[in-house]
Amino acid sequence: MVIAVDGPAASGKGTLARRLAAYYGLSYLDTGSLYRATGLAVEAAGARPDDQPAALNAAQTLDPSFYSEDQLRSPGAGEAASQVAAIPAVRSALLEFQRNFAATPPGAVLDGRDIGTVVCPDADAKLFVTAQPETRAQRRHLEHAGRGDELSYENVLADIRRRDERDSGRAVAPLKPAEDAILLDTTELGIEAAFQAALDLVESVLNERGQSA
Ligand code: C5P
Repeated sequence: MVIAVDGPAASGKGTLARRLAAYYGLSYLDTGSLYRATGLAVEAAGARPDDQPAALNAAQTLDPSFYSEDQLRSPGAGEAASQVAAIPAVRSALLEFQRNFAATPPGAVLDGRDIGTVVCPDADAKLFVTAQPETRAQRRHLEHAGRGDELSYENVLADIRRRDERDSGRAVAPLKPAEDAILLDTTELGIEAAFQAALDLVESVLNERGQSA
């Protein structure tokens, strides 16, 4: 079984995807971390994230486990990720890894921007998780503060808006719901309520397909 969870930054998709994976006994892949690691690797090589040959080389030689969670979650990594992610050759280079991961038993929950549209168009269930930009910025701001990153709320909101625009406006695999995705707005929901809502939605799709857990 494969579940696709897409949505913009800090919508809650990562937490929901991880919890759905635990609930159904599936593997979990945070595909944003692949783009984040690629962005960091380009910068470590002394190039800019929009340098296409350098970014492609970084994607082709990527070791996703090389960077720590703190490095991957830093604000700079998010911005670099969104730049390398707009390069079509980088996306192609990372596609096979993601598809192989999804195809490996027992199946997986993948979260990202294009899982339901490009990586796993045949996923058994697809969620598109959204929330108001201000709410997402508050969540991300708290997360950064928890790690000791001193960023103002205004900067975090500006970063989120910039990435939303770049991710939605790019030519290849833009951020958008798959036609058969179910939308879940988490603006007014805490983690538990959002998880329950996500689970109910996934269960209803699986029931329709006759493959509930
Ligand atoms: O989800 P996260 O914020 O970690 O993703 C970082 C960046 O990686 C996003 O802003 C987006 O540009 C890119 N990304 C993508 N496709 C995915 C996952 C992430 O383009 N499937």
